[in-house]
Amino acid sequence: MGKEFVKEITAMDEDFAQWYTDVVKKADLVDYSSVRGSMIIRPYGYALWENIKAELDNRIKKTGHENVYMPLFIPESLLQKEKDHIEGFAPEVAWVTHGGDEELAERLCVRPTSEVLFGEHYKNIIHSYRDLPKLYNQWANVVRWEKTTRPFLRTLEFLWQEGHTCHATDEEAHEETVQMLEVYAEVCENILAIPVLKGKKTEKEKFAGAKYTYTIESLMHDGKALQSGTSHHLGDGFAKAFGIQFTDKDGKLRHVQQTSWGFTTRIIGAMIMVHGDDRGLVIPPKAAPTQVMIVPIAQHKEGVLDYAYQLKETLSNIARVGIDASDKKPGWKFNEYEMKGVPLRLEVGPKDIEKGQVILARRDTGEKIIVSNENLEASIQEMLTDIQTSLFEKAKQHRENKTYEAYNYEELKQTFKEKTGFVKAMWCGDQACEDQIKEDTSATSRCMPFAEDAISSECVCCGKEANSLVYWAKAY
Ligand code: AMP
Ligand code: ZN
Repeated sequence: MGKEFVKEITAMDEDFAQWYTDVVKKADLVDYSSVRGSMIIRPYGYALWENIKAELDNRIKKTGHENVYMPLFIPESLLQKEKDHIEGFAPEVAWVTHGGDEELAERLCVRPTSEVLFGEHYKNIIHSYRDLPKLYNQWANVVRWEKTTRPFLRTLEFLWQEGHTCHATDEEAHEETVQMLEVYAEVCENILAIPVLKGKKTEKEKFAGAKYTYTIESLMHDGKALQSGTSHHLGDGFAKAFGIQFTDKDGKLRHVQQTSWGFTTRIIGAMIMVHGDDRGLVIPPKAAPTQVMIVPIAQHKEGVLDYAYQLKETLSNIARVGIDASDKKPGWKFNEYEMKGVPLRLEVGPKDIEKGQVILARRDTGEKIIVSNENLEASIQEMLTDIQTSLFEKAKQHRENKTYEAYNYEELKQTFKEKTGFVKAMWCGDQACEDQIKEDTSATSRCMPFAEDAISSECVCCGKEANSLVYWAKAY
């Protein structure tokens, strides 16, 4: 392919951060806006979000939740009601102080998350055990005044869904917390082909105001971890602060038990950093806005374009198919859709038409095969399935290759000095050790994994008796 076709991007191994920035821009996912840390999500990026959103929304509804919409603004007095919550969020909150020319009597915060709005509403609509459970979800934008930002991964304003539920008992709320974490994990693994590690956050890393936080953590190509979704058991802390009570079957007045859980546009950043390569994006077929891109060859020749459009129509029954019939050269188009990560390219020219065949090129492996028309639909379906599973397997292998164990402090420090990835090590549960590890290695505790055995009985930091296995990593 001639150099004139190639949109240059920085090589991953040269500068991963620059590679990421190049990809999000050159694949037309985002553009920068005039506000620091805010991004314009362009049609291609938004189509990707819409696919993810549709998959997740479907699952949220299947598990019995209803969508609602809450206001954008939170009065300061309302935000103050739950002490831990406001303490955690205060540094990241944006305030509205004026309406037109007039200074407001009470400042309004732009929602960073909506626990308090739901709290106030739930107090008004929940009275009896018959009103439970309340299973609400909202799709919205939120604002957190982040210090350092990066498109998708950490932006001032981001899109997300936030689930907020009320239950009669602690166990029910626990089951909900687990269920929604499982839903997130399933979307990550089956739709985005991102393997995730499920576990519990330490006290230090849990959500402000929660009893405990469950998380899914994924590992990026460069060996850094990313918190990819969180599900919180809120206990009755918000219920007490807001007075959300119900009369139970026994006639007694009780506080509800709550959960909240959120999944954001950050996951697009994860998808890029897990699957991308030096030619740009690689999108798993199930998430891809376009799964097959048709590039006609010698399209000025009679019949080629008609034939290509006909193919598009037929194949649209089995996949999301696009066609680029612009007058740009095929080489330019190849490069463009590789940059955009379209899973399959279909080339068809006069000779192929004559022979009753097309050429299919895989984005993930670069492999090209000739397929005869009779087998075309089946081959496309097979290849899309194969791409989906091999992306997942490759990412899983990558994570396994970059997961280490440390049994003493020297080993832990040395591993983080020499390698990037997850390091499994035991922990005593004391925050002093957690802080020490962060100071010495700049790695943070990612989670205490579900269902994994202890690897020793001593804290990797202080040597005292350990009670949890922790995955540590440098993180985005
Ligand atoms: P939280 O409500 O703090 O539990 O956040 C829910 C999820 O949002 C987290 O698990 C992150 O994956 C994601 N997240 C947090 N901050 C940002 C941000 N600034 N931009 C995008 N996603 C974010
Ligand atoms: Zn310790």
